[in-house]
Amino acid sequence: MRVADPANTIEHQTEILRLLRKHGSQTRRRLSTLTGYSISLIRQLTKDLADRGLIVEDGIANLDSPGRPSQVWSISPDACYALGLDVGGSFTRVAVLNAVGEVIYKHTQPTAKAESGSLLLRNLNDLVNATIHSMNGAGSSIRGLGVAFSGFVDYKLGESIDAPNIDSAQHLPIQQYLQQSTGLPVIVDDSSRAAAIAEMRYGAAQDSENFVGINIGAGIGTGIIVHGQLYRGAEGLAGELGHIPMMIHGERCRCGSQGCLETLSSGRAIADKARRMLEHNVPSQLHELTDNDPSKATAALVTKAALNGDKLANDLLSDAGAWLGMALATAVNLFSPEKVILTGGVMRGNPLLLSIVRDSAHKYILRQLPDLPILLTELDEFAGALGAATFVLDAEFENGFARRLGQLTAQS
Ligand SMILES: [Zn+2]
Repeated sequence: MRVADPANTIEHQTEILRLLRKHGSQTRRRLSTLTGYSISLIRQLTKDLADRGLIVEDGIANLDSPGRPSQVWSISPDACYALGLDVGGSFTRVAVLNAVGEVIYKHTQPTAKAESGSLLLRNLNDLVNATIHSMNGAGSSIRGLGVAFSGFVDYKLGESIDAPNIDSAQHLPIQQYLQQSTGLPVIVDDSSRAAAIAEMRYGAAQDSENFVGINIGAGIGTGIIVHGQLYRGAEGLAGELGHIPMMIHGERCRCGSQGCLETLSSGRAIADKARRMLEHNVPSQLHELTDNDPSKATAALVTKAALNGDKLANDLLSDAGAWLGMALATAVNLFSPEKVILTGGVMRGNPLLLSIVRDSAHKYILRQLPDLPILLTELDEFAGALGAATFVLDAEFENGFARRLGQLTAQS
């Protein structure tokens, strides 16, 4: 039996909160077994946490076998809320999660075209304020703000280094600005990494400790999870699969290099290639689907035409998918994940492209590796916002509750 130190009550309480988050509802007896503390100490700790509104009685269950049914305790869903923003080239999405990771609010709006970085930041601040306001009193329980940003992000500084798909987003001090303007702690990271975290907590990778999530939207990003943790690399930019070089003398990429995967398989690349073909009057249903305006070509219209049997659209998707499968095989051969999950607007609900990618990947994945699942995401377009809010919840369970419990104890 561990002996509790009365001076460390807050530490013991946060340990209970973390255990309930990790293992779900527990009886006091099971909490005693998990922590090694006496039942009487567990009784005191759970009472204190319940008095603070951080845990709740969650019915009666027979979890202790053999034993009679006893009361179970859970994290109170209202113990805290976390706000996640996912700022993409086209849309900005908002999700608010409660303490048990349920979405209690979501909202989408077009990413405003901002002439300057400061205007973009002001727009984000307005969106956060509008979200807090629309939640009435519950908005005051929001403990932090997670921002998932499309582009190259310095998560340590909380800055966007460069965001080729978002105007005015070079060297944008997102964390510093929003912390000052909202008064909330702010965590900033890349959208694809946030989406991978969402897959691990709520999506198709809940049973996986090692996987790669590839996000294919206007650009291509990746979240690499190794032993249940996001792999960031020395400079925090690990996972830029969209910018691995695929071709010598390839097209110029928005990152400044050339021949990157993004110039071949991203939503932008598919749309650009379709536009050029239409401008050269290559016969295709896409002429009609774009109202004879090649500039209206999108990856979604190319998929639609391909499903209708259109040859040009099928050729475009086959090329994009073949390159993507080759890059995916590179990631698999490097990291040997349990599975790969494909997410983002271009992949979501696109089994045609999935089958092309799978066929290509299996040609290049090492034969010595066991077959691995290559899956489509089961999450909707809010995955990045969910992941961003989850960064905040993780921080709250790591040290936020302890800080607040310390403040409450000091006041009483
Ligand atoms: Zn590039």
